[in-house]
Amino acid sequence: MKKTARTLNDKRVFKTLNPKFSHIYIEKGVLNNPLSQKILFHFPKSKIIEIDHYKDFFCRPRQDFVLQKKTPKLILATQRTPFLYERARPCHWLGYQRFFYTSEIVNCLFDCEYCFLQGLYPSGNIIIFVNQADIKKAVKEELENGPLMLSISYNTDLLVFEKLTGMVEGWINFASKHPDITIELRTKSSIVFPFIHKDPLNNFQLSWSLSPNYAVNSFEHQTPSAEARIKAIKKVTANGWKVRLCFDPIIPFTGWKQKYEQLIENVFAEISTKEVIDVTIGPFRMSKEHLKQARKRRPDSLVLAYPYKLIKDIYSYPATQIEDITKTISGYISKHLDKERIHAAI
Ligand code: SF4
Repeated sequence: MKKTARTLNDKRVFKTLNPKFSHIYIEKGVLNNPLSQKILFHFPKSKIIEIDHYKDFFCRPRQDFVLQKKTPKLILATQRTPFLYERARPCHWLGYQRFFYTSEIVNCLFDCEYCFLQGLYPSGNIIIFVNQADIKKAVKEELENGPLMLSISYNTDLLVFEKLTGMVEGWINFASKHPDITIELRTKSSIVFPFIHKDPLNNFQLSWSLSPNYAVNSFEHQTPSAEARIKAIKKVTANGWKVRLCFDPIIPFTGWKQKYEQLIENVFAEISTKEVIDVTIGPFRMSKEHLKQARKRRPDSLVLAYPYKLIKDIYSYPATQIEDITKTISGYISKHLDKERIHAAI
């Protein structure tokens, strides 16, 4: 029988799978790296397999992405240049001229049906690049050319791995010593410990993605509930950290307006607007190539199968629907927040 996301969601099938990280593939060159050792310490029962280069395992043809998402293997590797990638300037980040992202972890422990990573990579397995010093050195060198904004959670949800890697704490320490950098960490997680015992920083922005529970349960598999995310935001803001709230991607479902209105009321009942940097609103969108690949991998996903409109190599909703989504959500938010702090992502 052909494996699909639905058959693999069957609990009986799920029980027969290996636990996640049952196998750890490690490049011989990073066997003695301190971060490799720290990570291996967490998995005493995993089978360790030495490899020459992560691509030998990660880039094999004909991998089953959906199955790998259910039972990912871990790869520990060295990142080679480039360590930093330039990215297009998001329209709402006025004032920042130079944007970059790092890719220290590839792939994610969450399993959002709309995630572009399933169209980008040949594998659902997870790579952690352990040569942290090289990556920080590259960022320092780029800072010599002027201030910059850095996304550190672009190809993963970095915060979810924090107990294993300590990478977020490393970036908080980096930001505290380099005022010319602004770091953005985007997350759906409910993890807060890196922010509880650290003084808040103006140049470290926490961007929390929020969705109503209907969307969480339908499309954002294995992610925390809306309530758990709001609780996490409340904790970090109580400790002085400022947050960006991201209602992105919005996927209209039956009754979506009422569900988003309730979510937004719940958010602002718990979180003071003083602690909110701004809010972004973004309907679902994905590049043509990524959506093509993602549809092959998840043929039973209704989110991916939807007949989106293609404009300039990006699939999304028709302009009138995008306008409806943006106006509706910004209308709900503007009951609480000034319009200058509400931004449309497209
Ligand atoms: S949390 Fe982000 S990176 Fe992780 S699966 Fe969802 S969309 Fe992809």
